[in-house]
Amino acid sequence: MVRKWKKAELKQYEKLLINERERILRELEYESDQIARTQLETSGDLAAYSNHMADQGTETERRELTSQIISSRRDTLFEVNHALRKITRGNYGVCEQCEKPIPKRRLKFLPHARLCITCSNKSH
Ligand SMILES: [Zn+2]
Repeated sequence: MVRKWKKAELKQYEKLLINERERILRELEYESDQIARTQLETSGDLAAYSNHMADQGTETERRELTSQIISSRRDTLFEVNHALRKITRGNYGVCEQCEKPIPKRRLKFLPHARLCITCSNKSH
């Protein structure tokens, strides 16, 4: 099914998606930077200062958390890019399962939604 979009309206969603993509990329850059810095600290001379077991534990936890955040951001980035491709292809805003239009309310909240709420609930 093809959804009829007003050009201006579709542009709005495209803009939302592009903003989202830029925000994620900025955050990813910041977080990779943080990781690189911790690795540098723990492998360099500074490691001597944080050699207590407790510190090591929190450090590992923190790093694990950061890499979890990064991987979930990468997932979102993938979804955002996917949605942008759908805009180009002309099937943006259509549920990928039941092929019904996704309500605008949902798209405003989640511009990269692939599924309508009904299908999304079913797949969980
Ligand atoms: Zn659906």
